[in-house]
Order: sequence, then C-alpha cells, then structure tokens
Amino acid sequence: MDIDFAFDRDHLWHPYTSTTDPLPVYGVSHAEGCELVLDDGTRLIDGMSSWWCAIHGYNHPVLNRAAEAQIKEMSHVMFGGLTHRPAVELGKLLLGIAPPSMDKIFYADSGSVAVEVAMKMAVQYNFAAGRPEKNNFVTIRRGYHGDTWNAMSVCDPVTGMHSLFGSALPLRYFVPSPSSRFDGEWDRKDILPLMEILEKHHDRIAALILEPVVQGAGGMWFYHPEYLREAARLCREHDILLIFDEIATGFGRTGKLFAWEHAGVEPDIMCIGKALTGGYMTFSAVLASAKVADTISGSEPRAFMHGPTFMGNPLACAVAKASTGLLLASDWQNRVRSICTQLKEELSPAAHLPQVADVRVLGTIGVVEVLKPVDMARIQKRFVEEGVWVRPFGRLIYVMPPYIITPEQLSRLTHALVKITGEL
Ligand SMILES: *Cc1c(COP(=O)(O)O)cnc(C)c1O
Repeated sequence: MDIDFAFDRDHLWHPYTSTTDPLPVYGVSHAEGCELVLDDGTRLIDGMSSWWCAIHGYNHPVLNRAAEAQIKEMSHVMFGGLTHRPAVELGKLLLGIAPPSMDKIFYADSGSVAVEVAMKMAVQYNFAAGRPEKNNFVTIRRGYHGDTWNAMSVCDPVTGMHSLFGSALPLRYFVPSPSSRFDGEWDRKDILPLMEILEKHHDRIAALILEPVVQGAGGMWFYHPEYLREAARLCREHDILLIFDEIATGFGRTGKLFAWEHAGVEPDIMCIGKALTGGYMTFSAVLASAKVADTISGSEPRAFMHGPTFMGNPLACAVAKASTGLLLASDWQNRVRSICTQLKEELSPAAHLPQVADVRVLGTIGVVEVLKPVDMARIQKRFVEEGVWVRPFGRLIYVMPPYIITPEQLSRLTHALVKITGEL
C-alpha cells in the first residue's frame, strides 16, 4: 500500500523538525544489505547505518532468525523477579568484550536512558559513600549524550540548545573539547581546563562523562587518546568516577571493538547502545564496576533505584546476542580497516575544495567539514538523485556505512559526497 505522505506531513513529528514547515521525507518500503529501497523502487546505498546502528546492514538472515525464534518463546516478560536465557547469555557475551573493570550490567531502553542510568549511578554511588554533595557532572564541549533531561544537560551547550531550556536544565561544568587531533601531536595544554575545574570543584563533582576519542552528533570530532589517560589520572586523584559513553563508538565503529581501547583507559561506568542490536530495535546497557555497584548496594536503600518496564527485553537481548556474535565471528577488523583506507583515499580530494574546512576519517567514519551550514532539503535531494543516503547536519557531511558495504558501493558513496560538496 502507498505511504500516505499527507498524513505524515500533517500529523507525524520527525526528528528536530517543524510541524508547520517540515523538511521533505522520503518513503522507504524496505531495506536489505546495504541498500534502502524507496517506495518508488529507487535504491539508495546507505551511508548512515541508520545513525550508527545497522553495522551488518538490513534484513540480515541471522538477526531475522534470532528475532523470529525469540518471538516464538516470548517477546517480553518483566525483569522484576524473573530472568531468562537471552539476558544471561547476552550478559556473558558483553562482559567478555567489555573493559576488564566492568562487572555488572544494567539493561535499559535506549541510549539516552542509558546515560540517565549512568548519571544516576554516579550520584547514588556518592550518596552511598557518604558524600551526597558530590552530585554534579563535568564534561567536555561538543559532546552528545542524548535528548532526555540529564543527557541533554551534558550535551554541548550550543549545539544542544541549552539556551532554549534555560534554568530548567541542571547546570553542569564544561571544559573545552580537546583540540589535539586523534592522529596528530598531543598538546598538553588540552588537559589544563579539566585540571583547573577538578581542583576547584571536585567536592561537587560525581563524575566526568564523555565519549571516548570520537565525539559524534555534537561535532564528529576525533581527539587524541592521551586526553583520556590524563583525564582518568585526574579523576582518580580527585575521587571522581569516569563514565564512557560508547553508544556511538561501540562495536567496531572506530577500528577498535570499543573506543576506550585506543587509550587503554578503563571507565567506572560505560554506556552502550545503538549498534548493540545491529539496528533492529532500541536497546542499551550500562556496565559498571563492582566497586560502583557494591557501594550503591551497601547503604540504604540497598538497591539501585531504576527499573524500566522493558528492562532486559528478551527480544532485544536475543537480537543483541545474535548481532554481537555475528560481529565477533566476522573478520570485522579487516573490513573496518579496508573501509577506513578507502574512505581516506576517496575523500581526500574533498580537502582541496574551497568549500571544505577539514576532512577526517577514523575507522568507518568519514567526515567532510564544510565552511558554511548546508541547506538540508537541497543537499538531501542531491544525494538521493545520486543514489545514496547521506544526511548531513550543520557544517558536517559524513558517512558511517554498514561494515558489509562493498568497495563499489563505498566508491559510489564517496564520489557522491565529493561531487555534491563541490557543488555547494
Ligand atoms: C545516539 C547517542 C545517544 C542517545 O541514544 P538514543 O538511543 O538516541 O537515546 C547517547 N550518546 C551518544 C554518544 C549517542 O551517539
């Protein structure tokens, strides 16, 4: 049946979109492999992985089978007082690939909720440790941690539109995002603002939260891993928990299974999501050290105070287990490496364009930063005309394709990107 676009326009909200003057939307009828198929039959090569998620592409037989098999057992049961094989088996798999410091797993509904849970853990940890005044957070600018209230409070104040929510938003401590590039020289000056803030305000701060190495939706910036080593040292010194938001960076995207591995720094709490289910459904997990979990459980109310309705959803656990297993059984390191090499090669011509400020590539993430914000509706239409699905924001035109993309498909993607950037 045809998509009723008029109903969509009149009644459905899309992300960050006006209801009176919405941007055009494209109807998608199905998706398979690395392609989205529009309702008029147009096939688009997917450069977005549906926002970091669809690492194995779409309609994958292994993930389909996992979902179908689990539906026949049970799609959902409450996690209060009950447990099940999908939750336990996924947990074993995740702890096997998480930083060694991680010991406990809290399943949650989405990335933003995982960030809420992580922040609550940090506050409750300090409350249980007899330091209730240590209840605020420090973070680096240009971050993105989700759209719920506390997650939003630690997003970049400018791109996160803090001015809009004003005093309703809790005030956090912000330090500049490190300027040292991932593949450049480490500039020690980058750590000084954090050092100063922590020296001054450590008795008010529960945790440092950041995205390790790759800052995603807040600016697509790749910074030097030394920052994480220095930050971790400062956190230890001032008894501040370290929270890594690996919701975007997890599951191989940056060339390591998780981005903390670039620095060898282990967090106290870690959030994962997005590619956790291979893009099949919303699901996330918060991993915590035994110290964090046991301290929380060691004083009244002797429990961590959170419990979503769909916690540990069996269907999501089963698909997440299948997706993670599929990734680990694959030759993902080589795939990511060859995508990385090809992105570097084929995006490099963009660096010479007068419209372009910077080109950077890490793992399977390719970013062309232009000088002026793009006209979304126009550029989106051009990408569709070129047969690819790329959705830029602001001054950032970027791709992060499924790992199954073929070299030919990737070339079509990069060529469209360079060509259309040249038309700006
Ligand atoms: C997407 C994202 C989130 C939020 O996840 P949702 O599932 O959209 O709530 C949080 N942190 C990072 C780093 C993300 O990329």
